[in-house]
Amino acid sequence: MTRRDFAQASLAVLGSLALQPARAQAAADSLEPIPPDLPLPSSGPSRTKWIREAIVLQPWADTQFTALTNAVERARGMKQEFGFNAIIVLPTDAHNALCDFVEKPNSHLTDAQFREGVEAYRKEGYRLILYTSVMHCGHAPVWQSGELNRAHPDWSQRDPQGTPITSFGNASWLCGSSPARDYTLDYTLRLQHDYSPDGFMLDNNGFGHTKFGWTCYCDYCQQGFRKYALARCGADWVKSQTQIDPQDLKIPTEPGRLFALWTHWRNRVWAEIDELFQKRLRKVNPQILFFANTQYDLPVDTQASSLQFQHEDIVFSETHEVDPWYISQKMVLGQALAGGRPLWDYMGTFASTPQNPALDSLRPIEVLQRSIPASLAHGARPWIVYLGFNDAPSEPALREMGRYMGWYASHPGLYAGTPNTPVATVVSLRTRDVLARLGKCRSQGVTGCDAEPSTEHPLTPPHLERLLKAGVPVVGLVEARFAMDTLRPFQVVTLESGMVMNEQEAKALSAWVSAGGFLITVPEAGEYDDLGCKREKSLLLTTMGLSPQVPEAQSYGKGKVLVADAGRFADAVLDALQSAQIPFGLPQGMEVICYRSSHHHLIHLLRNDAAADEGALRFPHWLAARPVPAKWFSPDWPGGKALALEHDGGSIVLRFPEPPPYSVLVFSH
Ligand SMILES: [Zn+2]
Repeated sequence: MTRRDFAQASLAVLGSLALQPARAQAAADSLEPIPPDLPLPSSGPSRTKWIREAIVLQPWADTQFTALTNAVERARGMKQEFGFNAIIVLPTDAHNALCDFVEKPNSHLTDAQFREGVEAYRKEGYRLILYTSVMHCGHAPVWQSGELNRAHPDWSQRDPQGTPITSFGNASWLCGSSPARDYTLDYTLRLQHDYSPDGFMLDNNGFGHTKFGWTCYCDYCQQGFRKYALARCGADWVKSQTQIDPQDLKIPTEPGRLFALWTHWRNRVWAEIDELFQKRLRKVNPQILFFANTQYDLPVDTQASSLQFQHEDIVFSETHEVDPWYISQKMVLGQALAGGRPLWDYMGTFASTPQNPALDSLRPIEVLQRSIPASLAHGARPWIVYLGFNDAPSEPALREMGRYMGWYASHPGLYAGTPNTPVATVVSLRTRDVLARLGKCRSQGVTGCDAEPSTEHPLTPPHLERLLKAGVPVVGLVEARFAMDTLRPFQVVTLESGMVMNEQEAKALSAWVSAGGFLITVPEAGEYDDLGCKREKSLLLTTMGLSPQVPEAQSYGKGKVLVADAGRFADAVLDALQSAQIPFGLPQGMEVICYRSSHHHLIHLLRNDAAADEGALRFPHWLAARPVPAKWFSPDWPGGKALALEHDGGSIVLRFPEPPPYSVLVFSH
């Protein structure tokens, strides 16, 4: 092993280690706290109505050629069958460059063909969204050909070794701190001028990573981070707290306080980019939709997306998984991050097969029947990639997908309520960002290397799946939204992964408990500060003066707190919820999601696991259901079937014949 190899190997190991803050520094309590963060601009969410009603079609590469040529019939037919009312495409030159990259040169479009095709969709009422991006300049030829990289090698995202990321061909990803930001903004504004779309998506909007660690260590990031650290903390703080001369301050390669500060700054870079793009695009068209493609469920914050969600008009992500229990958890997470903004979900309806590696087959009917409803039932707006639509063996699956989508599009009233549950689970972005580290790289993926999953500090609380499987509807709540108003609707809050917490958050949670809430938490809640330093004790429990070692629920004000070890957290939560009679009674393998509109309960039922006989739904008391007639809707039958809620012992029950994969019950309050 050469010395250089050894250095690289050491760094790779460091990059893969979980944070061990005790190693290099004193406990958080003996350090000076970091000064408050600098403000981030905020344009606020869009009030444009169609973004809450969108059903999006995404052609890509050769299927964009198919979708946009002879488009008149196609636009109308797909609107009728699937309910599509928006289309996202790459502008002409980027489409052609991408077709060359994926070796489909026959799918080139002339600009006249592109415009004619897009016009056909617009005439049918479709909204037009265009692809763009900072990191690959929206696949524009100037990036795809490597020309931008050759002209501006300093614009590339660099890992700690100085290596760029090249996941989409040979061209390397552009860094949002470099002049690439303004270059790609100009590119996007030109597209806005030339094509007047209704919206823009910034693709893969974030940093990536290589096997040597996270990006970006380019000169612009070095300067940007130093400037931020000094502006926020001041030279004295930097000097006394990091023992580094401010002018020598560099992005660290080892975990620690400075690394955590850099992690936060990385998040700010992309939130600022969102604000910049949004502001400039809205200046031309105040109604324009702006959003980013982020992989928000990543177990490690390699992409630096955590601050983006509140700086875009909708939250969007690609979901390639098909396990409905996974999709349900991801949508709970997505809704938590969206915080009231629309959530759009790219559904993994297509799949490559050994015979057909070109991704143009649909998944089997049995898979689609469960994956599509999981996303819809959690209130995500569907986004379907135009793959598998012209593949003869996929025809039955396509009709099935059309049946679900057409039904969805024609029943907006079933999706008109707001979530209704007494249980919220905390999603801690900062715990993931500050504490979770990269595993070993296996291959190249859309955020750089595809790392082995990290099991420590997962973003999705591990007990969530158990709750959903036990008939407990759950709402996710990010720590940044802890406040009396957001917590008040809930009787129970579960906090399994909030190891990083600040005083304001601990106080907000404590105030809610004191007012009568029931908090179930782990002994480690709030054991780390924002910079990843370990405190001597849990900040949360200390704030309430409670002990981590008492196995029973402890009183605090009018409320109570149950502390359960991570190893038995899910069991403890389920026991407590059963005692409080919070779960629905329902057949095994089913999931229930509850909404409430001004006059009705809307109860979505998913049959996530294969078999379910005739059964009954036993309503928990908190829902206050009455013995009233109900209507039962499903893509499997027209109209609504009549059923009735009945008294049964001390509770209200609804008996039904064999449930379909997806159905919705509607009855009055
Ligand atoms: Zn950079």
